[in-house]
Amino acid sequence: MVQQTLVLIKPDGLTKSLTGNILTRLSESKLEIIAAKIVKVSRELAAEHYKHLQDKPFFDELIQFIQGEFHGRKKVMAMVYWGEDAIKRVRTLAGATNPEEADPTSIRGAYGRITSKGVYENVIHASSNGEEAEREIKLWFAPDDIIMDIYPTKNATCPQHQCRVWA
Ligand code: UDP
Ligand code: MG
Repeated sequence: MVQQTLVLIKPDGLTKSLTGNILTRLSESKLEIIAAKIVKVSRELAAEHYKHLQDKPFFDELIQFIQGEFHGRKKVMAMVYWGEDAIKRVRTLAGATNPEEADPTSIRGAYGRITSKGVYENVIHASSNGEEAEREIKLWFAPDDIIMDIYPTKNATCPQHQCRVWA
């Protein structure tokens, strides 16, 4: 089945200069990148992305981690990968959540670590099922950020709000 999945290169991956390595590993999947951007992650975005983990003891640290608070680089690279079996293929290349348990040849197995505070710094996020992928892609990207129409859209008149424009 042709699918789309959200991939994030987390702040530890960016700080360790792993962007190229990770993109090369993901290119083994033969999937297409249909959206990409660098994001400064707000607390609201972080908390919404990880809302299924809000009762976990590591939640606060996880939010700080994905915001880049531990890595001096407050940014994440967000992408949408698209193609046959995209979700499973990317999860397989990413490896298990716990980098110590991940296959050593997977992205997390090769580059991840567990900090002394117990946070899994596993360099990459990948959606784990179709429902999660849809929720996450819609959270991180607007329809016009993506080069294909992957979910239904509607026309809307955006309400007047203060924003920055190019001077
Ligand atoms: N995480 C952690 N400790 C745990 C479980 C998860 O630090 O015991 C972090 C880790 O960064 C992980 C993220 O929380 O990638 C999201 O957890 P999830 O269970 O959704 O794993 P994933 O889908 O990322 O493999
Ligand atoms: Mg998950």
